Amino acid sequence: MNYKIRCFDCGTVVDDPFLDSCPSCGGVLTIETDLDAVASLRPRDLRSRPLGVWRYAPFLPVDETRAVSLLEGGTPLYDCRDLASKAGVRSLYVKHEGANPTGSFKDRGMTVGVSRAVELGCKTVGCASTGNTSASLAAYAAKAGLGCVVLLPSGKVAAGKLAQAMFYGAKVVTIDGNFDDALRVVRQLSRDGTLYLLNSINPFRPEGQKTVAFEIIDQLNFEVPDRIILPVGNAGNIGAVHKALVEWKTLGWIDRMPKITGIQAAGAAPLVRAFREGREDFVPEPNPETVATAIRIGNPVSGRKALRALYDTGGIATDVTDEEILSAQRLLGRTEGVGVEPASAASIAGLLKLVNEGEIDRDEKVVCICTGNVLKDPDTVIRNCEPLLNAEATAESVRKVIGA
Ligand SMILES: *Cc1c(COP(=O)(O)O)cnc(C)c1O
Ligand SMILES: [Zn+2]
Repeated sequence: MNYKIRCFDCGTVVDDPFLDSCPSCGGVLTIETDLDAVASLRPRDLRSRPLGVWRYAPFLPVDETRAVSLLEGGTPLYDCRDLASKAGVRSLYVKHEGANPTGSFKDRGMTVGVSRAVELGCKTVGCASTGNTSASLAAYAAKAGLGCVVLLPSGKVAAGKLAQAMFYGAKVVTIDGNFDDALRVVRQLSRDGTLYLLNSINPFRPEGQKTVAFEIIDQLNFEVPDRIILPVGNAGNIGAVHKALVEWKTLGWIDRMPKITGIQAAGAAPLVRAFREGREDFVPEPNPETVATAIRIGNPVSGRKALRALYDTGGIATDVTDEEILSAQRLLGRTEGVGVEPASAASIAGLLKLVNEGEIDRDEKVVCICTGNVLKDPDTVIRNCEPLLNAEATAESVRKVIGA
């Protein structure tokens, strides 16, 4: 694919592949896809390939023949009829990104990002992470034979994610600070050449993440949903979903845009505040706090992309409390048998709230993207479920404790 790296804010074309922001204005970078190069393609041309990130290779800015892949993407899109009726909407689909190789959507961006690192001849890759980015990067670095350094906020990473980063052999460094602090430090390490940065500030990451939107449209046989809801932390993903839909709309593959709807945790909601005031920019939250650690981010690097996605598609942003998040997580599990981590359940919690407030029409066809697997954060699950039952080793005793 032909492409340019451009500043999202001022449009400057950037040639240096190691820059993590615009040299003129400091803005976030984006890939300008050359849509003329794919204009002769038709959706059916892609369909002979397995569902997954690389089905959409013509839309990705790396050489597919040298891709570092763990067969990411191709995740289930569940038609959740019972949950739809509980939520009060006509139809509800859940895109279960927890079914990716390392259990979160981060794998979609990482297959492209690590392929890019290999193309550039990098030896060591790194990231700051609330957990899932580090788990994913560690696995793809292992596959590619690269060194890997991950910076995590000390004491705030869910057990499953921490275990994965350690397991795949990354150098795991915990930082006395939050995610925003860790990102500031890893950007310095990237600028002095210690590592190649693979946070979503790297514009190749969102390119892979675009494919979640491509798959949703594909799985719905090109019947565009009214709305796509997703949790928002650093805001790479919501911008990627928007970019994907703009590309297919420009090509005429879809005839309208779903309303993109972003959900933040109440303790980490700088973009929701900006949206409510109709602003293009946001004021960072200095002390982000939420049980949904994957979105415990106060200064989202791609925040401006997120706001653009919301305004451009007539979407909404809202925030949900930790209580609403945990209750939505259980509801999804116990109604549909789909297990997601707390941050992912923010999309379901947001749906319930927005339907109640009359912001989402009951006649809508809605897709919620659930970003990560329930196994990522077992401690939160165990803390918030009914306590264990204990019995003597007799049928009678078991009957008694289960109330049979
Ligand atoms: C990374 C992540 C998010 C947030 O995505 P952003 O692109 O940072 O907005 C949400 N949920 C899960 C499970 C994640 O891993
Ligand atoms: Zn710029």
